[in-house]
Amino acid sequence: MVTLEGKVVVITGAARGQGAAEAELAAAMGARVVIGDVLQAEGAGLAAALNGRHGATTAHFAGLDVRSEADWKSLVDDTLTRYGRLDGLVNNAGIARPGTIADTTPAVWDEVMDVNARGSFLGIRAVAPTMVEQGGGAIVNIGSAVALSGYHAVAYGVSKWAVRGLTKAAALEFAAAGIRVNAVHPGIVDTPMVAANPRQRDAVTAVTPAGRPATPDDIARVVTFLLSDAAAYLTGADIPVDGGYSSGGTALQIARATGVL
Ligand code: NAD
Repeated sequence: MVTLEGKVVVITGAARGQGAAEAELAAAMGARVVIGDVLQAEGAGLAAALNGRHGATTAHFAGLDVRSEADWKSLVDDTLTRYGRLDGLVNNAGIARPGTIADTTPAVWDEVMDVNARGSFLGIRAVAPTMVEQGGGAIVNIGSAVALSGYHAVAYGVSKWAVRGLTKAAALEFAAAGIRVNAVHPGIVDTPMVAANPRQRDAVTAVTPAGRPATPDDIARVVTFLLSDAAAYLTGADIPVDGGYSSGGTALQIARATGVL
């Protein structure tokens, strides 16, 4: 059975969307969960709800801007004071901005890279010393299926390729210390990020072989597996959780156009 009993996990961007689903499932699987986010009211509300459902010390909300090294230090210090250990990190916080190369200003480029790439880098730097001292841990970086090909929203696409590179670098650096680092690449997922752009949602769904967007829980089930000891020998992997989008979206269009499917 896959369990997170006894583990303490930090999930960034967990006030809503996929991160909230990961926090819900991790708590249900026995973990104590630190919800890190810039959204104070939503994050604190989720922590209170999890404490009501799973026991008073199950979850804690920590104000965290993933771009801030000082915020990361406070979060790790506070987690160790509160729970005495830190076994897992999910670098889930992310922002998306549209824009081709011609349309993307350097300011937008920096904004997206700062949250998605630098934020994940700072998170790993912040938790790694504790995990090394404890003799192991598990880190899951949330990339995107757009990091498995080219993508028109250039800052977002490149930031997620950076997450892939970071995953490989961290996996090899920390494997001997017992820390596993993997990347999960969602396709289209029904969250507030996607609700803002229904045309995008429908267009991606049309080339997704599974024929539907993911639910946040579809992603959470894979993330919690990677956090668990059931994935003990799995590190450095790029795992698409995208209903087949990255393995055949174009082929699906061709098959439909030619009447094969
Ligand atoms: P979402 O917008 O619903 O949630 C993102 C969360 O990150 C929010 O709670 C937000 O407050 C938080 N956040 C943003 N900037 C932050 C910062 N500087 N510090 C701390 N927290 C911050 O989006 P989601 O769909 O749940 O996205 C989760 C992850 O999945 C992101 O990394 C996103 O890029 C990735 N992703 C999403 C989709 C999709 O279709 N929704 C597809 C592929 C990848």
